[in-house]
Amino acid sequence: MEQTNIPHVLFLPFPVQGHIRPMMKLAELLNQAGSQVTFINTDHNHNRLMSNADLKTSSFHDRSPKFLFRSIPVENAPSLLNIKELLDTLQIVARPAFRQLLISIISDQCRPTCIIADGIMSFVAIDVAEELGIPVITFRTISASCTWTYFHLSKLVETGDAPIPDGNLDKSITCIPGYENVLRSRDLPGFCRVEKPENSFLKFFMRETSAMTRASALILNTVHEIEAPVISRLNSIFTKIYTIGPVHALYKSRISQSDSSNGAGLWKEDRSCMTWLNCQPLRSVIYVSFGSLVCLTRDQVLEFWHGLVNSGKPFLWVVRPDLIVGESGIDPMELEMVTKERGFIVSWAPQEEVLAHPAVGGFLTHSGWNSTLESINAGVPMICWPELADQQVNSRCVSEVWKIGFDMKDTCDRSTVEKLVRDLMDSNKREEIMKSTDEFARLAADSVKEGGSSYTNLEKLIKDIRSMSPI
Ligand code: UDP
Repeated sequence: MEQTNIPHVLFLPFPVQGHIRPMMKLAELLNQAGSQVTFINTDHNHNRLMSNADLKTSSFHDRSPKFLFRSIPVENAPSLLNIKELLDTLQIVARPAFRQLLISIISDQCRPTCIIADGIMSFVAIDVAEELGIPVITFRTISASCTWTYFHLSKLVETGDAPIPDGNLDKSITCIPGYENVLRSRDLPGFCRVEKPENSFLKFFMRETSAMTRASALILNTVHEIEAPVISRLNSIFTKIYTIGPVHALYKSRISQSDSSNGAGLWKEDRSCMTWLNCQPLRSVIYVSFGSLVCLTRDQVLEFWHGLVNSGKPFLWVVRPDLIVGESGIDPMELEMVTKERGFIVSWAPQEEVLAHPAVGGFLTHSGWNSTLESINAGVPMICWPELADQQVNSRCVSEVWKIGFDMKDTCDRSTVEKLVRDLMDSNKREEIMKSTDEFARLAADSVKEGGSSYTNLEKLIKDIRSMSPI
């Protein structure tokens, strides 16, 4: 490859679905704006992506000759049970492998203009980038509210609020400015529920959040108008913040269907649910998905299933092959048989399309940030059942700050599920919630239109990266 003055941007996502996907969308947007892109996955995810998405075909390469995929030799199986193992492996092999790859890219005369590194891949990217003199922009794929919360993890440890002491999950958290009357212990990130901070995810996230500040700027997949107060607080840490969310909507508005990569999925989508949705009445269906990492026990699956059936509403449920932990003795096909008329089960759905379908009226979600943004964008109110990391904070914002859904965290019984589904789908509580849900959908749509905040921030990012390029 020749050294040119075309910017060359390297992307390094954390190797799980919810991080790869928004980074891939931004990568394609920058590529479309004229940048050369190198997108780096682990071997394992590289192979999965190539087998599921429309990326291995020559048409993607023909359309986007300046978009290259490279991989580093990390074998990972990104399920919750293996995340600890994945982190351990990444710490040992990913940094030297990334360094080696970067050196080989530079010696191919294609020095990267900058690296857009995942906010929790600083331990792989930052030292190496500093050593080789390449600027880093950090992309945090969670909400601004949660990013701000993560910046207070050390404070939470100092005040004794984290790890969460036994017992009182309803204690108010007062040491996070702007959230004094919002967060309780139970709303803190899932990894605060450990006995000791040593060798835990809590420590990992504290370290990574602090390392992010060595980057020259921060990218957030959020809508400025939805999180403006906390974004201005984050400006005390990063002078440059580009909010470009919902990046999937920005992507859709700027990249035509025929040029799209079809979304960087690690799972194969089952599109049969779209035909089923076509036969359901307007806004009648509750869509149920717990994302790509959350697992359920057999008992939890049964409580959700009974609650959904008893609600009397049609439901579409994503039951991933690895969703149920342990010897479940539950065959998703059997669940489906029993609920044939009203329930439809798939192992992976085309979620953005599902949420945009007119038959979908509500979303029972684990409150992953991508799912939350996709729901906001589609104007679909939520019932939140968070388990991990940022999900607890997101669900609190959804219910208490933004008022676009209900939070059922820490409960999982059939009567609560039934009641909340009914409340969300057809009570006068729905009317109330739909007012803010509609307003949020409008804010999201406006932000990606020409002149909107996310549209303009993407333009700024493109311009700023160009100005980093050697002439
Ligand atoms: N997703 C999907 N089909 C499914 C379930 C999830 O395409 O059946 C996508 C969803 O649209 C989102 C991502 O997977 O973009 C999940 O990311 P999120 O941040 O919500 O949760 P995570 O998987 O990281 O916990």
